[in-house]
Amino acid sequence: MIIGSHVGFGKDQLLGSVKEAISYNANTFMFYTGAPQNTLRKSIDSSLTNEAKKLMKENNILIDKVICHAPYIINLANNLDESKWQFSINFLTEELKRCDELGISYMVLHPGSAVSIPRDVAIKNIIDALNIILAKSSKCQILLETMAGKGTELGINLDELKAIVDNTHYPIGVCLDTCHLNDSGVDLNNFDEYLNLFDQMIGLDKIHCIHINDSKNAIGTHKDRHENIGYGTIGFETLLKIIYHDKLKDVPKILETPYVGKDILDKERIYPPYKFEIEMILNQQFDEKLIEKINEYYK
Ligand code: FE
Ligand code: FE
Ligand code: ZN
Repeated sequence: MIIGSHVGFGKDQLLGSVKEAISYNANTFMFYTGAPQNTLRKSIDSSLTNEAKKLMKENNILIDKVICHAPYIINLANNLDESKWQFSINFLTEELKRCDELGISYMVLHPGSAVSIPRDVAIKNIIDALNIILAKSSKCQILLETMAGKGTELGINLDELKAIVDNTHYPIGVCLDTCHLNDSGVDLNNFDEYLNLFDQMIGLDKIHCIHINDSKNAIGTHKDRHENIGYGTIGFETLLKIIYHDKLKDVPKILETPYVGKDILDKERIYPPYKFEIEMILNQQFDEKLIEKINEYYK
């Protein structure tokens, strides 16, 4: 089982991320190279990277299963403002370079939002942008994330993902997100059906990451609000079946569930759930005292 969570990437860069992952008993992790909502980035410090790699080795964390996530404000889909589109292209090119420097193999990307233009034109823009970006050859592969369909998001069904994967001239993978799949209208109780269709249309070998999240909302509501494992509408048993699926054994599973605390607005007193969610997943037993345990552990 390769399982971890979203972790920070602060002043200690990858070294801090690895330490955080280890504190959750994770054997992989996902990070943003800076704040996910902005594009301010520091250059990579190679001595911190080397220390991080050493620590990963000591703790059986395989670097080729570690995931980077592109900031979600970049949008390759809409080019009405040419300079904004160019900025997104340049920024993603830089992100891939940073991943190459860090030795990271995969970067998850939200395909983008159409905003005011037709969806098929928006898909074409994404393909054009990716062809420009990937022409500058990077070892790091882009994984398109399956999206919930909030607003004008693209990549919300297999047809849209397939169009991008098939028409980009370079290898592109996919990252499944269980909350997004549910919210986009996929019935995860019939996950095998979805997986078979995915295999026929895109190929299971394209899946290199799975975001494991429960959902606060019902199937097909296009909301994208993550919930702690077993506390949402997808449920523990269904998530467990996906996590332990035979055909997805070697794919890293990444938790992006919300921090918990008595007062969610009190930033000082909300805590990461990941150590306890990972434990619960490995035990394969739902823990109805999960939230209390987390509060107790970190307070
Ligand atoms: Fe994402
Ligand atoms: Fe996700
Ligand atoms: Zn989400």
